Amino acid sequence: MFDLIVRGDERDIGVTDGLIAAVEPELAGAREEIDARGLLVLPGGLDPHVHFNEPGRTHWEGLATGSAALAAGGFTAFFDMPLNSSPPVLDGAAFDAKLEAARAASCVDYGLWGGLVPGNLDRLEELAERGVIGFKAFMSNSGIDEFAHVDDVTLYEGMAIAARLGLPVAVHAENDALTARALGPTARDWLASRPVVAELEAISRAIVFAEATGCALHVVHVSSAHGVALVADVRARGVDVTCETCPHYLFLTPEDVEALGAIAKCAPPVRGDEDLWGVLGDIDFVTSDHSPSSPELKEGEFGAAWGGIAGAQSTLELLLGVPAISLERAVQLTSTGAAQRFRIAGKGRIEIGADADLALIDPTPYTLVRTDLRDRHKLSPYVGRRMAMRVVRTLLRGRDPAPGAGRLLTPTMP
Ligand SMILES: [Zn+2]
Repeated sequence: MFDLIVRGDERDIGVTDGLIAAVEPELAGAREEIDARGLLVLPGGLDPHVHFNEPGRTHWEGLATGSAALAAGGFTAFFDMPLNSSPPVLDGAAFDAKLEAARAASCVDYGLWGGLVPGNLDRLEELAERGVIGFKAFMSNSGIDEFAHVDDVTLYEGMAIAARLGLPVAVHAENDALTARALGPTARDWLASRPVVAELEAISRAIVFAEATGCALHVVHVSSAHGVALVADVRARGVDVTCETCPHYLFLTPEDVEALGAIAKCAPPVRGDEDLWGVLGDIDFVTSDHSPSSPELKEGEFGAAWGGIAGAQSTLELLLGVPAISLERAVQLTSTGAAQRFRIAGKGRIEIGADADLALIDPTPYTLVRTDLRDRHKLSPYVGRRMAMRVVRTLLRGRDPAPGAGRLLTPTMP
């Protein structure tokens, strides 16, 4: 007797105690059934890069609203970045405060990134003991005063410690000096002030440090094909480095950013590098880098507005609409890839023993409207976009996601 059977076109999924207990045609005997015939049934997504800003800046987003948006988009897990919550997760006490908030509010499962900043090298171990996914560092200004960018000594020594602790370091890779120039107030000025070379230099430096220390390196939100190529080249000779990109680098252009305004402002900036599509095979996963602010911080001049795009709900639906991306590849990019890279057991696959995390998808096109969105401020650059498919239901361990249902995810140690 199963707790639940999800009936599909070719196979059914039997769920017991939140885990997948059987995957085969025509299962029988369950307390509850969901008829998913005519729908795609995929593993729930894992978004390893979001900023839900709680505690401290819950008016920017929040764990309840942010996780509800992810669930509405087919995601059953996320990793929250150590900023822009306040205090940022730079020590054990800050980790504990965020964990308490997540336990109370999150609709889906969550992991927590720790921060690597000048002055907290002696805190990395206590963060590791609590189960952080890894350590996030900014190589350029983070936009948040209490989260300073890493100098080279901190990055190098931090990577050596992370290697010893068996955890990866994730870098926002842009050269600080090259991105510190304010060239003017417009979207074009913003783009010009953060040239590709700033990304390439920082990725190259991080790779050299990672190779020297033996640290596993992950480069977040790569915005250029050349940046991906740097990662792919060294990985081919055995260096442990991965990279992600985000939908805004694939689906938006600088012209879109000019039209949309600050809701499409981010760093690195949207370049509209079409060659990124050609290197998608070398990208490990696609993350939302969902990073909203209060709406006031998006008003006024583009140059002075908060940089961060609110797209958590749309990552999977955007990728499912692309003919060049197979269903299997879309699952790898939104779920399996991150679960494997960050060693999260039980996620990213529909197999016996895995968590019964499922996204049910109607393969009928629809147009995204603002009232579809579940995040706090609903300032998505994808409103008005035609989506090829629509997530109609998401199950977290066999149940509908609800505030407080999420659990902490920690990496299995190698
Ligand atoms: Zn981010």
